[in-house]
Amino acid sequence: AEALMLQSEKLTVAGQLAAGIAHEIRNPLTAIKGFFKLLEREMEEKKEYFHIIESELSRIELILSELLLLAKPHQVYVHPVSVHSLLKDVTTLLETQAIMNNVWFDLKLKAKTPTIKCDENQMKQVFINLIKNGIEAMPSGGTIYIDTEDAGDEVVVTFRDEGTGISEDIIKRLGEPFFTTKTTGTGLGLMITFNIIKNHHGTVNVTSEVNEGTQIEVRFQKA
Ligand code: ADP
Ligand code: MG
Repeated sequence: AEALMLQSEKLTVAGQLAAGIAHEIRNPLTAIKGFFKLLEREMEEKKEYFHIIESELSRIELILSELLLLAKPHQVYVHPVSVHSLLKDVTTLLETQAIMNNVWFDLKLKAKTPTIKCDENQMKQVFINLIKNGIEAMPSGGTIYIDTEDAGDEVVVTFRDEGTGISEDIIKRLGEPFFTTKTTGTGLGLMITFNIIKNHHGTVNVTSEVNEGTQIEVRFQKA
């Protein structure tokens, strides 16, 4: 199964909207959570209700924090960054999570380090989202192979996992807001990822085989 991910117009609009809404909701949500914690201490016997409300609040919080990662044009700072240093930073950041899930990173960093013009934090977010999905696709562990290729005026970054794979009908829906097959997923990771890649004039290609694994190839112009 293979699909070329093309960015749609609605993502930019969604980005502006999302940031606005998320900011508006976050403050009252934080206040509610605080008072809720105080209440919980005094109402021991209704403990399970509190747990339900609390986990639902946390879920809203998670969705908002992911929405906030959508386009914030005025804060974007684009400069040439080494792809390899980005990948090193991101894999270091995700190391504990990987180890806890029996996942290993096979990171091939070649001698020549290509650079791309990007906003460092946004690009890290792209790589984090892709690697996290890889980890989550391998419930009993496995390896995530990360490779870079110097392809003329382009840099290719490939992430390959040994996970559940993605069926053809689901590949088409990747990047759709709130589309998730996970019980605790937000379905926002890939929307944000594709949006950032689009803003950096990059392309994404997803190839997957059910029960074999998934390969995600991201291409950018060299800086
Ligand atoms: P979430 O991770 O919160 O579900 P994403 O937008 O990151 O949201 O991913 C959407 C869906 O795409 C996932 O729920 C999963 O079904 C599928 N998916 C993404 N990456 C992978 C992968 N590497 N392997 C298998 N399925 C994947
Ligand atoms: Mg995800």
